[in-house]
Order: sequence, then C-alpha cells, then structure tokens
Amino acid sequence: MGFIAVQGALTLEENTGRKFQALRAAVLARTGKLILITSPYGAFRTPAQQGYLRNGWEKDWPGFYYAAPVGESNHEDGCAFDINNWAAVGEQVIKEEAWKLGLVRDPSERWHWNNPRGPKFTFSPAALAGVGAVTPIPNISAADVLEAQKLLKFLGYKIAVDADYGRGTADATKHWQEHHDLVPDSIPGPKTLASLRAAADLKKAADAAAEAARVAAERAARLARETPKMWDLFWDDGKPNPTGYLGTPLGTAPLPNLTVFRLFERRITAAREGKTETFNRLEIQMMNNVLDGITRRFLGIQ
Ligand SMILES: [Zn+2]
Repeated sequence: MGFIAVQGALTLEENTGRKFQALRAAVLARTGKLILITSPYGAFRTPAQQGYLRNGWEKDWPGFYYAAPVGESNHEDGCAFDINNWAAVGEQVIKEEAWKLGLVRDPSERWHWNNPRGPKFTFSPAALAGVGAVTPIPNISAADVLEAQKLLKFLGYKIAVDADYGRGTADATKHWQEHHDLVPDSIPGPKTLASLRAAADLKKAADAAAEAARVAAERAARLARETPKMWDLFWDDGKPNPTGYLGTPLGTAPLPNLTVFRLFERRITAAREGKTETFNRLEIQMMNNVLDGITRRFLGIQ
C-alpha cells in the first residue's frame, strides 16, 4: 500500500488519495469550486500529530476540534481527509459525490471523510466510470506552490510563503486567474506561473524605475537645499531675477554685473558638484563687494 501526494505536502493512502482526486474533480465539474484539505493535519497524520490534536481537544484549546486517541484515527493510516471549505463549496454536492465513491463520514464531523477499506469499498476504475469526472488534476509540486506563493506575495497578496498549498494560496491563485484570463481552478499550473512571472518582471522594472526616480528627486532636493541661497537672489531660471533679492523690486538693490554673476555661477556650480573652485584675489573681492552690498541693503545700512 503506497501513499500519494494530494495537495502540496499532504499525502493519503493511495486508494483513498485516488478517491479524493476523483471527488475533487467531480465537485469541481459540478460547482467550479475546488475542495481543499485542511492543512497541515487534514490528511495522513503521524501518531505524534494525532497526539498533538488530541491533546489540544482534551485541553479545550482554541481552534482544536474533536480528535480520536492516538492509534484510533483513520487519519493515521492515511484513509481519511478533512475538507476545510466544505461549507463554501457545498455540503450536498460533496456528500452526493463522496457517497458514489464509497466514502463515509460521521454526521458529527461534517468535514471528515473516511475510506473504509475492505472488499466492499475497494476502489476500481469501473467504480469511477459512472462519476464521469476522472479528469486528472495535476498534482501540485511543493516547488511550484512555493514559487507561486513568492510571486503572489511580491504582487501584493497577503499570503504565507511556506510551500504548503492551503486555502490562502488557493484563494489568491484563483483571484489572480480570474483577473488574468486564466481558468480559475486555483491551481498554480504552467500558464498561471508564466503569467505571475511576467507580471513580477514588469513590477520589478517599474519598482526599479520608481526607485531611480525617487533617488534622482531626493538628490535634486538635496542639491536645492544645499545650494547657497544667494543663487536665488540673482537668478530665476537662468535669467536675472527681476525682483532683485529678498523680494525687493529691481532698482532698490544693486544687481551684480554679468562678470560677477559668472563668478557666483562658477562658485555655486562647484559647490553643487562638490568641487573646489579657486578664484584670484580680484574675483574674491568682487564677490565680497556684492555680498557686502546686499547685506547692507538688507539691514537698511546705506
Ligand atoms: Zn478528520
């Protein structure tokens, strides 16, 4: 008796797993919805996992439901699975299709389906023929699930990146598919992964461009902050500022002549570029005269 993977890392005893796959296909065909096994303990369980769940139930911990004692659960031989989204998918449809496959459940655990083994319930292809829904659904590899989760998260979905195909991943995948002309089967198959990769590449490029623009804007803002305020007194978009300086109309303050403009231009450009510009004694004197004149005018000293 072998085991097969049925959903991410979850496994079931092979016969039960085939029935689960047939049930999933039949329900999908009728409702368009994908039944999902509760993760991580809804399929085969180790005795340790069974003990953990039993302990939680006995202690009435929140989020724990009835679990059989260790050694008594049919989860421990991989012959039972718990459907997490049975209410959302439709209990009646699941019941009808599960019964056709010889699956049974205790009405007190409406999510828990059991595959009682033995001659009476032995699975055969003939038993499935009447179901008309044995279209194989590709098993999802953990690597594909992990890649899909990473891409979906990068693209803005709030999901766990744990390689476990649970409800969050299925819902996000389906949402993506519905908005990108893909078959909304919740499964991250090749087309869905290709679509996610292409979108992620575009977002990476857009993010890089936005980051470059942000850096450029930040640099421009820094330069503007650090540029000596004097520049604004003299220049307005490269032309002499007609209002003079500090809002004083042209004529009430002496504007420097073109030669001194050019000196300030060299000085400020050098400061912007972090270079040192050297001036001769006369040039320094010319600039200081202008600065002195501005200061005196500003302070009202003629
Ligand atoms: Zn169960």
